[in-house]
Amino acid sequence: MYAIFLVTCIVAYAGYRLRSLTLSGALLTVVTGTVIGYGFGWFGLYLLGVFFSTSSLASKYRARDKAPVDDIVEKSGPRDFVQVLANGGIGMLTAIGMVVTSNEAWLYAYIVSIAAATSDTWGSEFGVLAKQKPRSIMTLRPVEPGTSGGVSLFGTVMSIVGAAMIVFATYPFLGLGAMMTFVLIAFGLSGSVVDTLLGATVQRKYRCRVCGKLTEKRLHHNESTAYVSGWRFLGNDAVNFLAIASAAAICFFIFA
Ligand SMILES: [Zn+2]
Repeated sequence: MYAIFLVTCIVAYAGYRLRSLTLSGALLTVVTGTVIGYGFGWFGLYLLGVFFSTSSLASKYRARDKAPVDDIVEKSGPRDFVQVLANGGIGMLTAIGMVVTSNEAWLYAYIVSIAAATSDTWGSEFGVLAKQKPRSIMTLRPVEPGTSGGVSLFGTVMSIVGAAMIVFATYPFLGLGAMMTFVLIAFGLSGSVVDTLLGATVQRKYRCRVCGKLTEKRLHHNESTAYVSGWRFLGNDAVNFLAIASAAAICFFIFA
């Protein structure tokens, strides 16, 4: 247990120094990693590490080319504690569930929560680099890269690859069969589909009063933006959390 805590501290510190995490994000990573390590042992921590390291690399990959997207998305740069909670909160809950009832369904729900988080992160971090403009999943009209609810072929492929990578990463630890592999990848991918659907419909959107761009930011060009659509309390982090929660919950109830 001390070893798990120590390793989590080292990873969180490295994430902070590499500017993948803010200070609050690093502190919550210690909590998340320790709870997940408590529930699922080294396997749990390892899978969290695969998500954390590949997602940080995905964010930094061609970061310069993604600069225009920073204009649209609510947050860019190092992840704060709300973002860590949005991505790892469900994982923590499944770990606590595992400690309390030791039902194997918690383990599958945990894998799905990490697969969904990875799928969503990869889909957006790589998807914004797609050559063609993404289209709204609801109206199919072209939208600016980075707009929540937008999909591209490349982004969708990377969402599938991200979910699959997490499920395959469990292979050295769990003897998953072909059917189980397919089911867990599908659940993971469903998380990013829910994320995109919520992003296209009920996530709050604003418009800049200066440049007229649609954005998730409350401030643009130093002016407060005008509300356009969506539920005002539902930002990107909450959508992320709900998407991962729904994918993990469906998985849990099917295997419980
Ligand atoms: Zn503007």
